[in-house]
Parts: sequence; C-alpha cells; structure tokens
Amino acid sequence: MQAIHVAAKFALADLVAGGPKSIEELADATHTHGPSMARFLRALTSLGIFVEDTTGRYRQTALSDTLRSDHPESIRPSAIMLGAHFVWGPSGALEETVRNGQPSFERVYGAPFFEYLAGHSDDAAVFNAAMSSSPDHLAAIVGAFDFSRFQRIVDVGGGQGLLLARVLSANPRLRGVLHDLPSVVAGASALRHVAISQRCEIIGGDFFEGVPTGADAYMLKGVIHDWNDEAALKILKNCRRAIRPDGTLLLIEAVVTPSADPRTALMDMLMMVLTSGRERTESEFRSLLREAGFSMVQVIRNAGVSIIEGRPV
Ligand code: SAH
Repeated sequence: MQAIHVAAKFALADLVAGGPKSIEELADATHTHGPSMARFLRALTSLGIFVEDTTGRYRQTALSDTLRSDHPESIRPSAIMLGAHFVWGPSGALEETVRNGQPSFERVYGAPFFEYLAGHSDDAAVFNAAMSSSPDHLAAIVGAFDFSRFQRIVDVGGGQGLLLARVLSANPRLRGVLHDLPSVVAGASALRHVAISQRCEIIGGDFFEGVPTGADAYMLKGVIHDWNDEAALKILKNCRRAIRPDGTLLLIEAVVTPSADPRTALMDMLMMVLTSGRERTESEFRSLLREAGFSMVQVIRNAGVSIIEGRPV
C-alpha cells in the first residue's frame, strides 16, 4: 500500500505518461534521492507497476496507467488517501481494534473521524478528492436505475456532488439538492457547471439535525456504512421525516454476501478502524430500513456497489 501511495504522491505515472524516464529524470523531477528511487522502482516493477525497458528507462504498464491523474478511473486520489497518515496510522493499529472493538482512529487522533476532518483541511482535501474520484462506477449507478421518474432528488452526505452531477446530467428534467457538511459542500465545483447549476441547490448542514424536506427521492451513497446502527437510524429517520409519502429512498452501498468478496470485506476493516461503521448484509439493511419506517423494495446488484431501494411505510 505504501509503495502505491508513494508512487501516487510523486505522480510517477504522470511523469512517465509523457515518455519513458530514467531514474535520474524521475529523481530530479520529484526532488528525491536517486539510489533510493532506483530501489523503489525495482519494488514497483516487481508488482507490475511500471516496467524497465532495454535502455534502463521506465515505461507505463496497464497497472501504473491507472495511477495517472487524468485516467478516467484514476485510483490516484484513493491511493493518496489510503496511505495518508490519517488512514494508514489507524490501519496500523488494527490489532487494537480487533481486541477492543473500538475504532483506533479515535485513540490515535482524539476525535471521531468526521469531526477530525472538519478541523483539518489538508486531510479533508485528501479525503474529499478520494470521494470525488470515480472508482465506484458512477456511470454504472446512473445507468442501473431510472432516475427520470423523480422530480427532486436530495443527495444526503453527497460529498462534493460528483454523483449528483452525473445523475442530473443524465436526467435533464430532474432537480437536485446536495446536502453535506458546510466545509465539504463549499468545494462542490462539479455542480457549478452551467448545464446543471440551474437545477441544483447546495445546502450545507448536519444530517443528524435534519435533511432538506419535501423531495420525492433521497439517495445516500457510502454514508450509512460510516455509522453504527444507532447513528445510521438517526440519519434514516431524518430522511423518513423529510421524504414525500410516495417517495423513494436509495442507499448505494456494498452489500456483504456469504462469499465475502475481498473488496467489501477489506473496506469493512477500514470502517472498523476509522469509524463506528460497518458494511452490512441485505438482511441487516432490511432491518435498519424497517426500524426507520421504510420497506425494502429491491436490491439492484451492481459491480462493486448495490442500489437498495426503499419506500416509506
Ligand atoms: N456520498 C459521497 C460521500 C461519501 S463519504 C460519495 O459517495 O462519494 C460520507 C460523507 O458523509 C462525507 O462527504 C461526509 O462529509 C458526510 N458527513 C459526515 N458527517 C456528516 C454530517 N453530520 N452531516 C452531513 N454530512 C456528513
């Protein structure tokens, strides 16, 4: 993880994208120690990240290409986040979390995850950039559900609005509301695009206090998994109070299945060390929804994430 993280931080894939580079060129461009860069590149190439050519220069491979900043599914922002101290430090204390069941983040940093981020703008920028990158198959989500039947959709905990921007672009009659913490929505540049800004409101607030009312659709992507059942219920009950009686609730989350896939199971470890949250099974989502006053209509299984549709009862 640190090897990929450091390659991402130094933007090595961007440097090599312009043509093969020697160790000296890479060390110069990144202001790093040449002999250590050589050993670092040897480790990366052993993993299939970059390849050395016959002239001793390093070239892009299919794997290193996904670290390019301008790759459409770039993992660079996520690699920068996953190896950053605010994630890596608590992950290194996994043993402690497995022993005592408490997120190690809170002991290491003295505050819950999102409170800490609200007070640390550098780390928050790293987190928000990772959330705004698109390894979560945003296009697949937009294509997997008919959003055109809605009039107004609220993206609760919508981050900086990337998913909402895609949903609004694909559905020209739909109006949207982005709701997230004030410090987060301040950076919602994707929604200021002229084509959709007229149909979009941006509201800063705390979803434990309440969410914008009166819409016929509420979507929450990667939000419920950040919280334990008690906190998740508060958020869902606030959505229940706000939603129109004939409205639709959409949770976009990984769903744990009996044959746990590593992506979801490892994300669950991350939730465990960073937050009080967890990845949940379909039946766990069904009970949460029921307790919050929703019934589960269907679960649309998608690559990586699923769409859980609920309606008020
Ligand atoms: N939906 C986005 C972001 C998911 S991360 C995506 O899928 O990319 C979880 C989001 O919950 C973050 O943007 C975070 O700022 C937001 N959040 C955390 N606590 C919050 C609170 N109390 N009120 C509103 N939003 C909150």
